[in-house]
Amino acid sequence: MSNFSFTKEQELFRETIREFCEKNLTARSGEIDQNGRIPDEIVKGMAQIGLLAMTASPTYGGSGADFTLATIATEELARSDNSVATAVLFLVEAAWGYILDKYGTEKAKEELLPKATKGESFIGIGSTEPDVGSDIAAVKMRAKKEGDTYILNGEKAYISGIKEAQRLDGGYVTVTKTAPELKHKGVTLFYVPINTPGITPTAILENMGRMGISTGGFNAENAKIPEHYMIGEVNRGFYAALEGFTHARVLVAAACIGTAQRALEIGMDYIKQRKAFGRPIGKFEGIQFQLADDYTKLEAARLLVYKAAWMLEECYRKGNFTYHDVNKIVAPAKLYAGTTAFDIYKDVMLWHGAMGYTKECPLERGLRGVMSYIIGAEGAQNIMRVIIGSELLGPEFIPYR
Ligand SMILES: Cc1cc2nc3c(=O)[nH]c(=O)nc-3n(C[C@H](O)[C@H](O)[C@H](O)COP(=O)(O)OP(=O)(O)OC[C@H]3O[C@@H](n4cnc5c(N)ncnc54)[C@H](O)[C@@H]3O)c2cc1C
Repeated sequence: MSNFSFTKEQELFRETIREFCEKNLTARSGEIDQNGRIPDEIVKGMAQIGLLAMTASPTYGGSGADFTLATIATEELARSDNSVATAVLFLVEAAWGYILDKYGTEKAKEELLPKATKGESFIGIGSTEPDVGSDIAAVKMRAKKEGDTYILNGEKAYISGIKEAQRLDGGYVTVTKTAPELKHKGVTLFYVPINTPGITPTAILENMGRMGISTGGFNAENAKIPEHYMIGEVNRGFYAALEGFTHARVLVAAACIGTAQRALEIGMDYIKQRKAFGRPIGKFEGIQFQLADDYTKLEAARLLVYKAAWMLEECYRKGNFTYHDVNKIVAPAKLYAGTTAFDIYKDVMLWHGAMGYTKECPLERGLRGVMSYIIGAEGAQNIMRVIIGSELLGPEFIPYR
């Protein structure tokens, strides 16, 4: 290991994104949270600077960005829209656009990726079902071959971007079963356009946080999906799905450190000026020590996140590490960044006293956003622990085998 600094190109990229965010996003985070929508001009602006599905290759309109750049972008977006909704829109498309780019057919990529990179479509992930979440191999949505199409039946739930996908004629990298008896070896991925006959979006759920992007589901009833929308090989979808989730987890962790960074900045400004007992509360050791601990945790989380981003690139694009090596960094990065962000929000809210508990203060929307990452999005915290435990102890210690 020779140094821990970002390259000039990476620094410049961060500056560009920060400038974009400060100009277009920071002041609108409250509005995004309140209106339940990321304004079109922000999405268009993100497309113009190459942020949408940015890991897709330039042949299909992407920026061909590596995962360190995608991580920087996620961190900056979450620092500005601290509810993390904009970061979610970005990261879902980066991770699953990458999977479509890597494993999709030429025909599908030519048709789908250029639109997504221009903000004229949306690519999400459809894995979770009403009674299957963490156990991806147990999904029930069935895909049966019929001529040159596959017929899909089943239901997906708690899916991000359902309204956005309908509005933009988008779709989902969808986890289905082509051979249910083979469990994880019978999983196949398809791109499923949300506006396909036989696909019906289900009720939009009202979440507690990251309000700017919708959550809902969709039913498939004899929906015909053309064979060229298969992503990767038949019955090999489990591995491609894990690759997508692994990428997405790093970006989720990056969003956690971005929004936590904003919370700490708000907190430091506040404790320097808020007085109690005749002095700024930042002078009290009880507050300063919490700040020191929070800063330390945030720096440690950031190191984990950027190491994970670097390892992803080395493993999946250059073949220098195994999936197991990557798991041992990505799972701790997501686990630690999530809990750190939660801890920091809690501390900074406490420093604000009663003010921290109000909607006047931008902290509560950040805390609500962070909760979505801890509960589930791209894998629950306990699932990160299961991954770490079994990577350290060996596959015979996977608790559900
Ligand atoms: C805001 C939001 C957006 C989402 N967006 C999407 C999306 O776009 N696409 C998508 O496919 N899904 C999405 N999800 C769903 C998410 O992926 C799931 O919530 C997640 O996989 C967990 O599944 P579950 O909610 O069914 O919980 P379950 O799997 O039922 O787990 C329930 C609890 O049990 C724990 N648990 C489960 N197994 C174990 C174990 N072996 N050991 C210890 N504890 C265990 C979990 O940690 C959790 O606390 C989203 C979720 C949220 C909250």
